[in-house]
Amino acid sequence: MSTTATTRFHWRWLMLAGALALLACDKDKNSAQASNQVPPAAQRPADTPLPALTFPSDNAPLPAFDGDRAMRYVKEIVKFGPRPLGSANHKKVEDYIDAHLKGDDVEDDAFVADTNVGKFPVHNIVAKYPGTKDGIIVVASHYDTNYPLRDTPYVGANDGASSSALLLELANQLRGKTLDGYSVWLVWDDAEEAMKPDTEVDFMSDSLYGITHLAEKWEADGTLKKIKAFLLADMIGDADLNVDRELNSAPWLEAVVLEAAKRQGYQSHFFSRGLPMEDDHLPFVKRGVPSADLIDFNYGYNNVFWHTPQDTVDKLSPDSLKIVGSVVLESIRIVDKMDPLPPK
Ligand SMILES: [Zn+2]
Repeated sequence: MSTTATTRFHWRWLMLAGALALLACDKDKNSAQASNQVPPAAQRPADTPLPALTFPSDNAPLPAFDGDRAMRYVKEIVKFGPRPLGSANHKKVEDYIDAHLKGDDVEDDAFVADTNVGKFPVHNIVAKYPGTKDGIIVVASHYDTNYPLRDTPYVGANDGASSSALLLELANQLRGKTLDGYSVWLVWDDAEEAMKPDTEVDFMSDSLYGITHLAEKWEADGTLKKIKAFLLADMIGDADLNVDRELNSAPWLEAVVLEAAKRQGYQSHFFSRGLPMEDDHLPFVKRGVPSADLIDFNYGYNNVFWHTPQDTVDKLSPDSLKIVGSVVLESIRIVDKMDPLPPK
C-alpha cells in the first residue's frame, strides 16, 4: 500500500513523518493521476469526528482470540522466506494457508495477472463461514511480499504475514459454529504489492491485482450486493501498536471498530492519527461497500522498517495480534446486531 497526495498536507502527519512524506513526493504526484484512485471527495479530513452511534447493549462474552497461536502462524509463514509473486515460496504459502482450511468451504480465485513486469499466476483464497443472517462480512489480508524486494532477505513479517496469520486464527474462531449473524468470509488476497518500485510507476496502476479481480468478479455475479462490511487488516503485528484511522474508510464502520476496542480496553491503540491509504479496501470502497482499513503505518520510528529486510518477527507481539483479532471479532458481532445498518 502507499499513502496518497493529500497525506503530505496534513500537519499532524507532516510532524510525525515529514521525512517519509518528502521521500514519497514523486510517488504521490503520480498517484494523484492514477485512474484507479478513489476521488478526493471520498477522503475526509483527518480531524473529522466519527459519528456518535448508539450501539445495542450486548452481554455476550468478549472474544477470546489466541494471539500466541497467531504469532506461531506468523513465524511459520516467515520461515518460507520471501514470497513474491511467481516464486516457489509463494506457492508454499498458498499450500500452507490451504492446509489450514482443509474441510472448510473454500473458494479459489485463481487467474493470470498481466502486470508491468509480465504475466503471473495470482491466487486469492476465500474461506466461508455461514451465518444465520442474510449478508456477508468480509475480513481480508494480502499474503504476498513486495516483488521489487525479491532478491533481498525481505520476509514481510508485519507486512503480509501478521495479518495473514491473524486470519488463520480468525478461521479457528469461526470454524464449526453456526454464526449468530452474517456469514463471515475470510480473504487471503494475492498480488497486493507493487511489481515495480514506487519511484518508477504509480502504485495504483501496479498493485492490488488480486483484490481488484475479486471485487470485479463479485460485482459481476451479484455477491458484492450482499457484503455488509469489508474489514481489511494490514501491518497489525507491530509491538508498538497504533492502528491509524484511514480516511477512505466508512466512518460508521470505524465507529464500530472503536466501540469494539473500547469494550475490551484497547482504545488507546486505535485512531490517534488519521491518514488516507492506498490499500486493498479501495476496489470495494469504489464499489460502495462500507469498508475499514485497519493499518498501523508507523512501523518503527517514521515507518523505518516498512518494505525493508528489517521487517522481521522480533518487531512483532502476540499481544498486538490478540488486540486486533479480538477487535475484529467484536466488530463483527456489533455489525450483526445493528439493524438497520447505517446508510452507506
Ligand atoms: Zn507492503
